Amino acid sequence: MTEQTVHVLLVEDNSLHLRLIQKLLAGETQLNYQVEAVGTLTDALACLENRPIDLILLDLILPDSQELETLFKVRSAAPEVPVVVLTSLDDVSLAARAVEAGASDFLLKTRLSGITLGRAIRYTLARVRAHGAEWDSPMLRLAQQQFLKAAQIMGLDDNIRQRLLFPQRTQVVSFPFFRDDRSQVETVFGYRVQHVLTMGPTKGGIRYHEDVDLGEVAALATWMTWKCALMGLPFGGAKGGVRVDPTTLSKKELQRLTRRYTAEIIDIIGPDKDIPAPDMGTNEEVMAWLMDTYSQQMGYAVPAVVTGKPVVLGGSLGRREATGRGLVYMIEAAASHIGIDLQGASAVVQGFGNVGSYAARFLEEAGARIIAVSDVSTGLYNPNGLSVSALNQHVAENHVLQGFPEAETISNAELLELECDVLALAALQNQVTVNNAGRINCRLLAEGANGPTTLEADEILNERGVLILPDVLGNAGGVTVSYFEWVQGMQNLTWTHDEVNERLKSILLNAFERTLQRATRDSQDLRTAALIEGVARVTEAKLLRGVFP
Ligand code: NAD
Repeated sequence: MTEQTVHVLLVEDNSLHLRLIQKLLAGETQLNYQVEAVGTLTDALACLENRPIDLILLDLILPDSQELETLFKVRSAAPEVPVVVLTSLDDVSLAARAVEAGASDFLLKTRLSGITLGRAIRYTLARVRAHGAEWDSPMLRLAQQQFLKAAQIMGLDDNIRQRLLFPQRTQVVSFPFFRDDRSQVETVFGYRVQHVLTMGPTKGGIRYHEDVDLGEVAALATWMTWKCALMGLPFGGAKGGVRVDPTTLSKKELQRLTRRYTAEIIDIIGPDKDIPAPDMGTNEEVMAWLMDTYSQQMGYAVPAVVTGKPVVLGGSLGRREATGRGLVYMIEAAASHIGIDLQGASAVVQGFGNVGSYAARFLEEAGARIIAVSDVSTGLYNPNGLSVSALNQHVAENHVLQGFPEAETISNAELLELECDVLALAALQNQVTVNNAGRINCRLLAEGANGPTTLEADEILNERGVLILPDVLGNAGGVTVSYFEWVQGMQNLTWTHDEVNERLKSILLNAFERTLQRATRDSQDLRTAALIEGVARVTEAKLLRGVFP
């Protein structure tokens, strides 16, 4: 279940209906509700003035207000808050007029169930966000600010600057999938964004998370462009996502969702067009379903349509651990640059999924003491060091870190501020901000996640002498081995584990050295230098190809 709490104002004067709705909301498992119940318009308006409300469930016939007037008064008191109208069978035409007048949805009180009520609320909240904030996402703002900063410093041609600020191609889909009991069909939003089509096919992961929106996917696609260019890979950046909480779905539901999402975006993906890969909330199994769905449509097996798939289906050896391994190659290089010996150094890792768990393992192998780790369920702290294999074993049995015995529990916020040599961020975006950057207590902050540090936080950390290993370098191991997987797929080759790791190390360290040289020469931080390297390569390619027609 999600930890998000939704504040609902329930305006209903019929005590029977009131109790029924309260009971149904209490039994809903996908969101936590905090319900404020009132029976008159006057009380509703007072409540809207005093409390933050996310959604209003509104009976239009109240003792002190009738019909559409009730809606108009509520909407003028709180224009931003979505309203779901509660109606009885005999006033459905009133409900229709209410929707026309700005209500988000209506529910028939006589046919209410936990499923219909919960779904109306979740969908309403998702739709409001979709209308208001598809492009207006903090992540896209961050990606664009970083790009504009680099563009200014490198004196980028304004024609190119405008061209690269927004993605070249976006596809937004809304599509259905059956829940397991077959009586429910969920409708979710999906996205595929291709930022730059100049460099070759586009490449980028697919994210399943309840917060995914167009802006977030566009930001991730933009970073992929810089990352691929910085590594010298023949791809433009792309990203995909579905706005869904995958932890609430069974495996069969996840498979149906994946197959339908693939069918929806099938025209714009392909080995020569756009090649998806795993990201947060997706894994090898999801990639296998994607490859199978695509191949079914083509009529023959097309392994190269996707990377990060199981080895037996044409996946590459070393892809599963590539992002974590690459992060640690980069940490080794950055640590030696600032004089940290990883042997005996202390390390903290936020996120214990694909990237975090492998990063922790390779840091431990390099001699570091992992003093804290966290995931969505908890943070764990042990100053004497945690055993990564014991943590992996615990997660294999329990799915999450919670309940691991040999550690003190701490919050994710506390974990970020622990004193350590290396802080590796491998969970979500927007973790180190202006609010906590002053208390971050590490020497090297290594970004495995995309966009975990805001631009304001960058400045504070730079001033405080913390070296930031930026995401476009830190997590580039994933796309680099994805590139190897694509090359092997296109040519029906298989490389050994050692071949993969050697080539990976050489590409990553070369990019690190080029970035470091530029940063030193131009007195820039590593993020700006890395972005300039990437942007310069894309710019050169764009100028050579010219503008069509
Ligand atoms: P994942 O789904 O395998 O793991 C995510 C981890 O973060 C889980 O342990 C989850 O519990 C944890 N988490 C979620 N919310 C959290 C919270 N609020 N606080 C603390 N932990 C939380 O995802 P992943 O593939 O490891 O991706 C992690 C990050 O790395 C993402 O930003 C992703 O874009 C980036 N990345 C991944 C790859 C890849 O190859 N998988 C490549 C490049 C970048």
